[in-house]
Amino acid sequence: MAKFYGNIRALEGVSLEVHAGEISCVLGDNGAGKSTLIKIIAGLHRHDAGDLLIDGVTTTLGSPREALDRGIATVYQDLAVVPLMPVWRNFFLGSEPTKGRGPFKRLDVTLMRETTRAALLRMGIDLRDVDQPIGTLSGGERQCVAIARAVHFGAKVLVLDEPTAALGVKQSGVVLKYVAAARDAGLGVVLITHNPHHAYLVGDRFVLLKRGAMAGSHTKDSITLDELTRQMAGGSE
Ligand code: ATP
Repeated sequence: MAKFYGNIRALEGVSLEVHAGEISCVLGDNGAGKSTLIKIIAGLHRHDAGDLLIDGVTTTLGSPREALDRGIATVYQDLAVVPLMPVWRNFFLGSEPTKGRGPFKRLDVTLMRETTRAALLRMGIDLRDVDQPIGTLSGGERQCVAIARAVHFGAKVLVLDEPTAALGVKQSGVVLKYVAAARDAGLGVVLITHNPHHAYLVGDRFVLLKRGAMAGSHTKDSITLDELTRQMAGGSE
């Protein structure tokens, strides 16, 4: 796959496989092309060459809505949440039940609260107060809510844009646990990161990008963490 911005090569010759029940990690430093790749998968940008295949069929994604309809959910670093709204309302943002259009009916609200609580619990997140504004949760907890949301609304592919970038060690561990839970729920996960340790902890496949080109493609059993770290740091294959 290739993408150019004018004569700037953002991606060229890059290939990524995503399988149900697996985590494909995309690793690369700043400017490697990670965001460009996400934007193509999320339907925000069109690629200039190469093919995007879903279930073996060549596809073009004309918009983020189309990507979502095809089962591709993307969780960006700056999560699209409304901080002052309760957790449950953020959980349903953009996916409100069509029956109760306009102000939510009392019954619907109760149902949506319960649904949110249950969906979080299914992922192992025991958040008792789903009425609290989502802005009061930690960055890691907000990532976890976003992951649970994608699983609940039936995403087949979950794309995570550096979910641990702004987190400390403990919170990163918690988020990675939920990333693994999404994989175990049968989703194909694309984990974008520049942390080889985080990638190796949960990943099944690893694609290394450097200045828009492939610098390596490995499965978990074909590379050690030390070698992955070395390649990330600039060593050759
Ligand atoms: P970062 O981690 O810093 O976000 P990245 O790996 O996500 O980096 P991209 O943002 O995809 O990398 O950028 C890849 C290349 O494409 C870079 O050289 C960047 O300057 C360039 N680029 C990205 N977006 C645009 C744009 N809209 N117009 C022109 N050049 C762009």
